[in-house]
Amino acid sequence: MTNDDSEPRVPVVCPECETTSRIELSELADSIARHNEQLHDGEQVAEVDPEVADELANLVADELGLLDDA
Ligand SMILES: [Zn+2]
Repeated sequence: MTNDDSEPRVPVVCPECETTSRIELSELADSIARHNEQLHDGEQVAEVDPEVADELANLVADELGLLDDA
């Protein structure tokens, strides 16, 4: 647990490695790509936990101001 909430962290699951990692949002795409490249020959194995994917979409939309309907 940490109180550092300056950067949202997103759970990434890899069913083959049976791991879950919490990755900073700004590192998310790179981290997933690197993992899949190094461990799974570039296959899309590791991915954002589907349970939070919706939440993440909202979060990103919010950060980009897409929910600002002005
Ligand atoms: Zn993996």
